[in-house]
Amino acid sequence: MEHIQIHDKTFIPYLSQTDIQEAVDILAQRINTDYHGKDLIFLSVLNGSFMFTSDLMKGITLPCEISFMKVSSYAGTESTGRVDELIGLTSAIKDRHVIIIEDIVDTGITIDKVIKLLTIQEPSSIEVCATLFKKEAHLGQHPPKYYGFEIPNKFVVGYGLDYDQHGRNLPAIYQVKS
Ligand code: 5GP
Repeated sequence: MEHIQIHDKTFIPYLSQTDIQEAVDILAQRINTDYHGKDLIFLSVLNGSFMFTSDLMKGITLPCEISFMKVSSYAGTESTGRVDELIGLTSAIKDRHVIIIEDIVDTGITIDKVIKLLTIQEPSSIEVCATLFKKEAHLGQHPPKYYGFEIPNKFVVGYGLDYDQHGRNLPAIYQVKS
């Protein structure tokens, strides 16, 4: 994999397509085991998780519902930490088991707010499944139960993740060159 340039920043290859696919397959298998016989709904947080959601769902063999929602925007390389509302959530989640699909859990502020908003609807359980977890940066109450990779606190793009709306289409994950 080559270095890439997006806007003013250079990114270096970090996780290959093969690395990601292997991790995603393992996550799907774990979920298949853990949620056997349960009423399961996946809530995918757009935009960043579209590619992860697609790959993860191909490995899920359980009957389940998949729904999509949007939360607040994220601009540039620092988290704004703002979540105003959940947009587009039309499925009822009361008394159901929810797995939120996220691209990355960084400070955890976003996911904590999403969970707080969803909890009002009284689901049976809520867990988080993320491609990436920046554990060092995490300040929240809800670390993801399922994640593909723990990564250092450096900005990444690709596999759905953007830098000012570019780079989402990259099939691998790249880290900013410092
Ligand atoms: P948190 O609230 O956990 O700090 O941030 C969550 C959101 O910030 C993620 O869903 C993602 O959109 C964005 N984010 C956090 N870290 C990164 C990163 O390294 N790269 C990109 N592209 N987005 C990030």
